[in-house]
Amino acid sequence: MSYDAPNQNGRFGPYGGAFVPEILIPELNALEEAFEQSWADESFLNQYRCLLHSYVGRPTSLTYAERLSHELGRGQIFLKREDLCHSGAHKINNTIGQILIARHMGKTRIIAETGAGQHGVATATIAARFGMTCIIYMGAEDMSRQALNVKRMRLLGAEVRPTTCGSQTLKDATNEAIRDWVSNPRDTFYIIGSVVGPHPYPKMVRTFQSVIGEEVHSQLRQLSSKAVPDVLVACVGGGSNAIGLFYPFIDYQDVTMYGVEAAGEGLHGRHAATLSTGDIGVLHGAMSYLLQDEDGQISLAHSISAGLDYPGVGPEHSWLKDIGRVKYISETDHAALRAVSLLSRTEGIIPALETAHAIAALEKVVNEVDTDSVIVVNCSGRGDKDMQTIMEHDEITTIF
Ligand SMILES: *Cc1c(COP(=O)(O)O)cnc(C)c1O
Repeated sequence: MSYDAPNQNGRFGPYGGAFVPEILIPELNALEEAFEQSWADESFLNQYRCLLHSYVGRPTSLTYAERLSHELGRGQIFLKREDLCHSGAHKINNTIGQILIARHMGKTRIIAETGAGQHGVATATIAARFGMTCIIYMGAEDMSRQALNVKRMRLLGAEVRPTTCGSQTLKDATNEAIRDWVSNPRDTFYIIGSVVGPHPYPKMVRTFQSVIGEEVHSQLRQLSSKAVPDVLVACVGGGSNAIGLFYPFIDYQDVTMYGVEAAGEGLHGRHAATLSTGDIGVLHGAMSYLLQDEDGQISLAHSISAGLDYPGVGPEHSWLKDIGRVKYISETDHAALRAVSLLSRTEGIIPALETAHAIAALEKVVNEVDTDSVIVVNCSGRGDKDMQTIMEHDEITTIF
């Protein structure tokens, strides 16, 4: 039986759905209709593909990591090079798709929320490309931690609005963005940065990111004797780069899939391993596994990588965990830092700290699979943005 989620109500098993203020229901319905229509429309698809090609630089390479494979001693490891995308990560595949939908719907104003700033930068980038008004909500605390990304967004012409309530982080910025959308539903389009949020966002973002796995499918035939990989590995924050790699292979039951969460300081300390340790609840408009305390209050997540530092996860990953289709594991801050060094040294590729969690997991993964397995790892982003953090941990990254 083939995989067929979400259902009409946006449910992945019990997860997903749309838990939003009443006033947004017609907006979400209109969005779903616009998305389904556009995705069936050849001229929309052409415009989307053209932008991915001419602006983002797709298709991104699939690189055989010969020295890394040799170092790990088992498997043939290939890297899907999302780090080569314009603006340095996979996020732009999705922001381009959503802005085209926004234009199709006649919206003139783009809003988004951002924690580390990566989604804010991807949104500001594409809003500049189309000359649209762009407002980014960001926690005041995050703004001071991520000053460089704040500057990038402003340079790109976006207005960055600090959120000063609550913990002054992503959770509060998301509440502000939803408040803005409720007040301005007519002209405003809310661009969500991962496979999270109310239906139809998780499905829509999955669709836009699936270009990753689709390219792997056609590229692998040229590089290896196998038409489909044996193993897929990707890091999981909200889960968009992972689902983008996994989804096109989901019905190939022989493909083993690993999602790698951030174990932070370790699973008994502060971490962001939502699927490994969380409970079911509702966050940002959808039901999913979450990090929460005994009273159901959302816990503050921790990871050295800002992009994985999120207390929730996309509802589809909760379902894929429950049905056993994807194995979810986790790697610590320390392991990720070592993996940055490993990939840099063996392949000449400095990965983002998020990506480094997937690289770190390879040591375990290669021992669970056949010796000659073809393993594709999603290299979700480049590490330039993380150099400051990497320098602060020099004792780990120069250990070799
Ligand atoms: C944002 C980000 C992630 C995490 O987001 P997902 O939605 O889980 O993909 C991973 N890698 C990089 C480089 C990012 O910027």
